[in-house]
Amino acid sequence: MAISLFNTLTRRKEAFAPIEPPKVGLYTCGPTVYNFQHVGNYRTYIFEDSLKRALRFFGYEVRHVMNITDVGHLVSDADEGEDKLEIGAAREGKSAWDIAKLYTDAFLSDSRELNLLPPDVLCRATDHIPEQIGLIKRLESKGLVYRTSDGLYFDTAKFPGYARLMGAEHVKGLEEGARVAANREKKALTDFALWKFSAKDKKRQMEWESPWGTGFPGWHIECSAMAMKYLGETFDIHCGGVDHIPIHHTNEIAQAEGATGAPFVRWWMHAEFLLMNQAKMAKSAGGFVTLADVKAKGFDPLDYRYHCLTAHYRRQLDFTWDTLEAGRTSRRRLREASLELAKEPAAAAPEAFENAFRESLGDDLNMPGALAGVWDCLRSDAPAGGKRAFLEKAETVLGLGLFQEERVALPPEAEGLLAGRAKARQDKDFALSDKLRKDLESLGILVEDTKQGQKWRRK
Ligand code: AMP
Ligand code: ZN
Repeated sequence: MAISLFNTLTRRKEAFAPIEPPKVGLYTCGPTVYNFQHVGNYRTYIFEDSLKRALRFFGYEVRHVMNITDVGHLVSDADEGEDKLEIGAAREGKSAWDIAKLYTDAFLSDSRELNLLPPDVLCRATDHIPEQIGLIKRLESKGLVYRTSDGLYFDTAKFPGYARLMGAEHVKGLEEGARVAANREKKALTDFALWKFSAKDKKRQMEWESPWGTGFPGWHIECSAMAMKYLGETFDIHCGGVDHIPIHHTNEIAQAEGATGAPFVRWWMHAEFLLMNQAKMAKSAGGFVTLADVKAKGFDPLDYRYHCLTAHYRRQLDFTWDTLEAGRTSRRRLREASLELAKEPAAAAPEAFENAFRESLGDDLNMPGALAGVWDCLRSDAPAGGKRAFLEKAETVLGLGLFQEERVALPPEAEGLLAGRAKARQDKDFALSDKLRKDLESLGILVEDTKQGQKWRRK
């Protein structure tokens, strides 16, 4: 079946055909590990994971590479200001290396809870400094690099078609926003840092020797260098959030194609923003929600995954606690139905529903359509064994934990009450244990006493 995917580069849906079928090379930009990721970031990762699962469903052998940005991502996109990792280190009184480890681990743990399949290669920028230096050298040999007092810059005027991905209208926007721009030594506003020198008066925690002087790589060079190392100079799909189109991904193309002269990526795919209070959810905007917040309110991370699947990835999606509640209710119903069906012997999946499911996935990854098809099948009069087989197949793409054990997080106050009640029963203080049972009930938690101790479930 033909799969069509929207390509940001051509601004239209195109029939997907990888370079070397059935292999597909997929690169997705990973987190900058100076803080927790918020659920907005996870919307993008959930889109990428759905894409990868859908391609595997269609029989492709996907090789997925994701980077961890642990150096070089400066506060300002104009290559000014401090490195986000060093800011995190100062904020928390830890080393930049410890900050990177802490937030990488947090990201990996969140990813597991969201059923994001691990990438085949997870690569850190700091583990690939020689590759980045090597790529800058290639660009230098092509005359695409110039030096200023604070670093090496890519000369965008020498790279025709620089603005291809973002569109020329974006460059105008950049120029208008640039009256405040700082770096006077840059020849053009769109030029960007490939290598920054460490400041003479301030020791950095993360810095390396290079042919040009001690310093650290610019943020964009890591993705070009690592993508080409693990996927080749031209590969199939590169993803990220839409905020990466005008700068990060535009610069990735310039660096890769400037060095090789070959097309870097065939399909560029971008997820739209998760909004909160009508604005992009962002760490800098203050009001952001982490997966820990979601769990603290008693939601399963997969309730959030369900919420994300209800909107097409190219549409903005609002985050509110009410919409998350709706995601929880729907996922619970779907899961209960799946567990019931799992008791039936599996039969052949009904073809019409399976075809409709494929069609939705193949239509630019229409996950809301695929999900609606799953509900249609459940409500139909197809035999139970067939429904079961279909749901099992669909779950390989949905990743909603439909056949998994429930792992609902308790609200923190309920945890305290449960622990208090266990202790009260040990102490044979039944009045207190009854009171705590009532308190828990008011939080929606029902407690039962069994031979193995107290057991809880949701009301
Ligand atoms: P960062 O850690 O800032 O480099 O972002 C990691 C990923 O999350 C990138 O692909 C961003 O484009 C994406 N992203 C950031 N904010 C949002 C948002 N509000 N909604 C969806 N994706 C986002
Ligand atoms: Zn990147």
